[in-house]
Formats: sequence, structure tokens, C-alpha cells
Amino acid sequence: MAKVTIQPSGKSFQVEADETILDAALRQDVVLAYGCRSGQCGTCKSGLLQGEVTYDDPDSLGIDAAELAAGAVLTCQAKPLGDVVIEARTVDAVADLEVRTLPARVRRMRKFSDDVMGVWLQLPANQRIQFLAGMYLEILLKNGETRAFSMANAPEDDELIELHIRHVPGGLFTDHVFNKMREKDLLKIRAPLGTFFLRDDDRPIVFMVGGTGFAPAKSIIEHLIHQQSARPLHLFWGARAASDLYLDELPRQWTETLPGFEYTPVLSEPDDKDDWKGETGWVHEAVVRRYPDLAHHDVYACGPPPMIEAARKLFPEHGLNEDRLFFDSFEFAPKK
Ligand SMILES: Cc1cc2nc3c(=O)[nH]c(=O)nc-3n(C[C@H](O)[C@H](O)[C@H](O)COP(=O)(O)OP(=O)(O)OC[C@H]3O[C@@H](n4cnc5c(N)ncnc54)[C@H](O)[C@@H]3O)c2cc1C
Repeated sequence: MAKVTIQPSGKSFQVEADETILDAALRQDVVLAYGCRSGQCGTCKSGLLQGEVTYDDPDSLGIDAAELAAGAVLTCQAKPLGDVVIEARTVDAVADLEVRTLPARVRRMRKFSDDVMGVWLQLPANQRIQFLAGMYLEILLKNGETRAFSMANAPEDDELIELHIRHVPGGLFTDHVFNKMREKDLLKIRAPLGTFFLRDDDRPIVFMVGGTGFAPAKSIIEHLIHQQSARPLHLFWGARAASDLYLDELPRQWTETLPGFEYTPVLSEPDDKDDWKGETGWVHEAVVRRYPDLAHHDVYACGPPPMIEAARKLFPEHGLNEDRLFFDSFEFAPKK
């Protein structure tokens, strides 16, 4: 185990044996600038002020030996040999994240339910998009319009970008996804976007999601799992019927494996065949039934606009400080 100290911020973190500086930093919520994560693009190039690092394959790096000798370090590949001090920029706010437009190949599609498609996108070789858990991307359509979808993977698991796309009947893009799009198709995306991302804190979190609002919550929860966070988490997932809880097995699994994680699915119109014994009604009402006093919570809400509007009205009446309500409202894109 080695200690890395970042200057000028003074932030420090531990690096496990055989771990790169960048992997350790991201795992512990120190966001250093990075791009490809394969030692090629140079975005993570920093200065080694003290100590020594090693590389598994120094000849494959996209950096001159002379630069390395002069004290440059590629944090995405470098493994410290003992404690080190490096000079690097940390990304303390979204403002520092670079928004990029890139082609993205549809690598995999899986129908989660009748109207939700899991789509995994692959970026060109050596390209990664740096984002904070909860942010979204835009698909750039040929007619100049854009469509927003939240990234469902944690930033640590960024080999592919995972999207959960709900079919809006008659919708230009989602009709295409469900009827015509195939694996290997090429899309154009712009990312990362948005201000719905995890805030560093230790307050307990209530996630309230509706439908595919589960996608960014999944990103945040999986990020918290990577961080081995001890924050108490309670996910309320609102849907019409049980079949709309399209990845229900995943939060059920988290309740088994994550101490302090609770899951409450809430159905507004359970089917007779669901034989539903759980919560029914509106998901925001289920939240305040369980937490009549939200004064000590952070709430992350994501999904259909009416659900978000209801939460913005109801939760402050239950003691939630408005600054502690973070939300993404899944609005339709404006027509061009
Ligand atoms: C930040 C953000 C993140 C999102 N993340 C996700 C996600 O992870 N998963 C997901 O499934 N969805 C997400 N959405 C919603 C998603 O962007 C839309 O469902 C999608 O853009 C629909 O695209 P479309 O081309 O199929 O539909 P469109 O062609 O845009 O039209 C959809 C349908 O709605 C009608 N319509 C269009 N505009 C309006 C309007 N203003 N009022 C009423 N009706 C209208 C149209 O006539 C059509 O029937 C997100 C939205 C935002 C803003």
C-alpha cells in the first residue's frame, strides 16, 4: 500500500498493490483528469514531485522517454513504488469535465422488458468519456435534434456506456431503437452533461426513481459500491406493474450484499397476475410514508416530469432542505 498526495489540492489517498494511481483515485472519489485510460492520450499527464513510479509496459506509452525522465507521469498507467507526491489537476466540479462529441458503436442490445431496451455503446479505441455518476449523454440525430439518456454504468466501469431506453410510441429516436437499430450500428453522442451527480457527503440517501429513472441511480449506487461507502441508501422505484421493474433482481441483490441498503418497489397499477403484496400508489407518497421527516436526508430523484414536480412540492413540506434535493426530470427534447 502506498500513499499518493496530489498538489496543489493537498488531497491524498491510498493505492493498493498493483493498482494504478488513477484507478485508486477514482475509487476514493478523487477525480483526476483522464481520457483514454490506456496510456495513449496524455490527458492524465501529471508531474512527479516526489517518489518513484513504475509501468507494466513502458514501451507502449504514448509519451517520450525523455518526458518521463523529466518527471512526467501518466496516472492511468503508473503504479507507485512507495509514497509519491504528484502535481495534478483534480476535477472538483462538472465545469472541469470536458464535453466531447464522439462516434459510438452499438455493441450490445438486450430487451429488459416490453418497452425498455438495454443498450451498450463502445467508443473508438483509446477514447473514454470522463463523467460523474448520474450524468447523461445526448444522442445527436441526423436532423440536428438531440435526445438525452442517462448513463447507467458507474464511472469506474466505463469500457462500455450502458443506457436504459424506454420506448416512447411515435417517438423519433426510440421507435428507431426498438424497430430498426441493430448491434454494430454507429451513433453520435455528446457527453458528459447534467448536474444530477453524486455530491460528496455522508448523509443517508433516498433515491426516488420512476421507470428508466433507475438508470442514473444504478450508476450512483454502483459508484458508491466501488467506494465502499457506508452511507445508508434507500431506493424507491416507482413503476406501473411488476414487469416495468425491468431490473428488479439487481436492487434485490444489493439488499443481500450491501449493508445499509434498502429497496422499496412501488406499483401504481399492479396487474392481477402480479399478486402484489408490496407498496402501491405514487412513489413520492411511499417515500414520505416511510420518511415523514426528511430533514437529515439527501434525496436523488429521477424520472418522469410529473413525479419530479410532485417531489419538489411535497418533500420540503416534510423537512427536506431544497438544496438537498437533486433531480433529473426526463423531459422530451424540444422540437427543432
Ligand atoms: C436529462 C435527461 C435524461 C434522460 N434519461 C433517460 C433515460 O435514461 N432513459 C429513458 O428512457 N429516457 C430518458 N430521458 C427521456 C428521453 O430523452 C426521451 O424519452 C426521448 O428523448 C424520447 O425520444 P424520441 O425521439 O423517441 O421521442 P420524441 O420524438 O421526442 O417524441 C416523443 C413523443 O412525445 C411527444 N412529445 C414530444 N415533445 C412533447 C412535449 N413537449 N410534450 C408532450 N409530448 C411531447 C411526441 O409527439 C411523441 O409522441 C431523459 C431525458 C432527459 C432530459
